[in-house]
Amino acid sequence: MVEIVRIPALSDNYIWLVHEPGSGETLVIDPAVADPVLAEADARGWRITQVWNTHWHPDHTGGNGAIKAATSCRITGPAAEAERIPTLDRWVAEGDRVALGAIEAIVMETPAHTAGHISYHLPSEGLIFVGDTLFAMGCGRLFEGEADQMHANLQRFAALPPETFVYCAHEYTLANGRFALSVEPDNRALVERMEQVEVMRAAGEATLPTTIALERATNPFMRAPSAEELAERRRAKDAFRG
Ligand code: ZN
Ligand code: FE
Repeated sequence: MVEIVRIPALSDNYIWLVHEPGSGETLVIDPAVADPVLAEADARGWRITQVWNTHWHPDHTGGNGAIKAATSCRITGPAAEAERIPTLDRWVAEGDRVALGAIEAIVMETPAHTAGHISYHLPSEGLIFVGDTLFAMGCGRLFEGEADQMHANLQRFAALPPETFVYCAHEYTLANGRFALSVEPDNRALVERMEQVEVMRAAGEATLPTTIALERATNPFMRAPSAEELAERRRAKDAFRG
């Protein structure tokens, strides 16, 4: 099993540091910045060997260059965004396999937040890194894609094993949950989840990772019955001031 450490960065990003003890490989998912990542790996005696990016936004790739300069790691990211991520060493697309030691990730193309956004599913570990596609009780903004693409992404995620852990790139849970309650005020699972989230955030605790089962029960975007409904909810969320 891999060991995963959460590194908070910028205002609400989470950078995930993933260590595979069998091979000694250490992976960084979406480094917004470099310094706290290098410090955390150093403190644990882990040597960073890889970076995997989900999309080109600077809060997901900003640390690429400095981490590569410090560690000579190999950087993997979406082929469709290669021109926007000049630090990439390897370009991947739907169905490609990426190895972390003996562990394999399968690349899923999950466009909509950006046109080339990808997610990394690690079936043997029961987890997925979704970048800015899926959040706890929310989904990414549709900057470079359409609601039908996001709907398709979320339905693919919903079909993963329910116990799958979902590692998102931002702590947006509280604001997302407040919007979710406006959509489904009578959803018991959602009401209970938000009671817990309020307590956790008041104590400064992280609410991630989430799980597919939890999102299926409480996420108004994953639960949207159609792309049209998802589009409607996304527009409402963009204007929502909870
Ligand atoms: Zn983004
Ligand atoms: Fe982001």
